[in-house]
Amino acid sequence: MSSARAFHSPRQKIHHRDRGCGAGLILSPDELRAGTGGKDLCPECAELARAKNGGLFEPAFLESRQIAT
Ligand SMILES: [Zn+2]
Repeated sequence: MSSARAFHSPRQKIHHRDRGCGAGLILSPDELRAGTGGKDLCPECAELARAKNGGLFEPAFLESRQIAT
């Protein structure tokens, strides 16, 4: 299984995991940062991941969506 590496830009309030994400593609290499930056996952990346994984979220996605109960 390929695990997508998270990346983000200081310019955006979300992080990306899919290189095919439109919002991630507009980022220039100069502003790309590794990791989530402590930001929520991009909705488009979440949708792409869900399609690829047959509805299963990656653990990293769940971690980024911790909900206090
Ligand atoms: Zn994205």
